[in-house]
Amino acid sequence: MKETPVSRMRIQQARMLCLMGARAVTTAAATGIRPTDARAIYKEIHGTVSPPGQTPHSLEWYLERPARRLQASLLLKLYFLCIQSGYSTQQAFIAAYDVYWNIYGAADTSKRQQSERLIDPERGFYLVKRAGSFGALNAPGVGEAIAALPCRSCGLEILSPAHEAAFVCPQCASGFQNPGHRLRA
Ligand SMILES: [Zn+2]
Repeated sequence: MKETPVSRMRIQQARMLCLMGARAVTTAAATGIRPTDARAIYKEIHGTVSPPGQTPHSLEWYLERPARRLQASLLLKLYFLCIQSGYSTQQAFIAAYDVYWNIYGAADTSKRQQSERLIDPERGFYLVKRAGSFGALNAPGVGEAIAALPCRSCGLEILSPAHEAAFVCPQCASGFQNPGHRLRA
């Protein structure tokens, strides 16, 4: 491959995604580098071939647990903010995922602290790919559309079934059942 500033940047981003745990198939799709180059980068970094297997194919996964749902919503919000700032979809994903990665931090066993990061690069990339440029995600897997809806209590945009009219996010919903919350009310 002829080296240009753009190709150098893509290779650098591919290495970054690979270090964050992306397999070659996702690295190639997310950065636009050739699959053979993505496989070579994976081998170089991890010392083994990129594992085969399916990439994510269902949106249902993101709604299954409140913490997952919150993190997926955050990643998606970061992605849309990058799109609004004029990033290409490819650059928006890489920038948003990088911020998301740093918010949740790396696993640090010396502090007995495990990373709470729940969305790996493959799940992240699938999510933004399905999101397109606007909020509603088409979800044949759950038989209905899901969208990032603003919570009517705190205003945070959280992934939810798109038909939910008066939506309250899981954080606020659990607060309503909390005795401490009732005392203050
Ligand atoms: Zn809320």
